[in-house]
Amino acid sequence: MLISPNIAVDWSQKVESTSRLLDALGLWSHHLNIQEQFTIGITSVTYRARYYTLWAYYYQYLREKEVVDANDFEKVFVLSSLAHHDGQGASPSLAHMFDNHKFINDWDQRDSFTLDFKIGGFGRVYYNRQMEVFRCVWTDASGEERRSKINKQLADTLSFLNPENFTLRSLSKDQLKEFFKGFCICCISKNPKEIDILSQLMFGFFSETDGTADIDNPEFSEFMDGNIDLEFADISPHKTGERPTLKEQNSRRRNTLFLFLKDGNANLNRISRSTD
Ligand SMILES: [Zn+2]
Repeated sequence: MLISPNIAVDWSQKVESTSRLLDALGLWSHHLNIQEQFTIGITSVTYRARYYTLWAYYYQYLREKEVVDANDFEKVFVLSSLAHHDGQGASPSLAHMFDNHKFINDWDQRDSFTLDFKIGGFGRVYYNRQMEVFRCVWTDASGEERRSKINKQLADTLSFLNPENFTLRSLSKDQLKEFFKGFCICCISKNPKEIDILSQLMFGFFSETDGTADIDNPEFSEFMDGNIDLEFADISPHKTGERPTLKEQNSRRRNTLFLFLKDGNANLNRISRSTD
C-alpha cells in the first residue's frame, strides 16, 4: 500500500494460530467492551452466521409444537451438514461448525442415524442471546416467548424445509440429503435472501415501532443511496448502565462494520459524494 511516494506500508506476515483461542480479536472481552458498545448482537466467539437463521426457524416453526427438542433439532443440522459432505467433518466448508467431527470414524459404515448421540448444544448457547439483541425472539417480562416480523422473515429463508421432517427420530443418509437439501451450514452462500436479511440486521437496519421489530427498508434504501450518517453517538460507557437506544445501537453497528467492508473504495466514493 503506497501512502505517499516516500512511504509504503504492507501487511505483516500472517501467523497461523496453534491454539483454540476463542475471540482472538478480543471483541468480546469485558476490558475492551467493543462488542457490547459497537457491534452488539454479533458474536465473535463463533464464525458462522447460519446459526442465526437456524434458531429463527426453530423458534418460528418447531418450538411451539414442543415435539422437537432444541438439541435434537441441532443434531439434525449436524447430520444434514455432514451428509452434504459425505461425512467429511474436516471439510473446509464445515470449518468452525459445532460438532463437525461427529461420526468421523464410522460415517462410511453406517446407513442411518438415530438422534441418541450427544452434542455440545453450543449452537443454541452462543446464539440465543444474539437473537434477542437482534429483536428476533425474546422472553418478555411475563415470561412469555415473543417473536417478531424479523424472525419470521429470517426463518422463511429456509422455507424449502418441511417442519414435519424434524420429528423423525431416525434418518438414513438418503433422507438427510433429500429432506434437508440446502440446510447444510455451507448453503447460506446460495441463499441470497438469507444473506440480505442477516446483513441488514448486522449492519443495523432494523427498527421497532409499536413494539414490533422489523427490517427498516426505508433506512436501508437511504443508506444504499449514499446517505450515510457517520456520526457516532456518545461512545463513552453509559453511566447509568442502561443499554443505548436501538437507534444508537444501529448507528454504532453501521459505522463500526463499515470499516470492515472489502469494497472500501466504492463506499468511500459514496461518502465523498454524499458529503459534497
Ligand atoms: Zn455443505
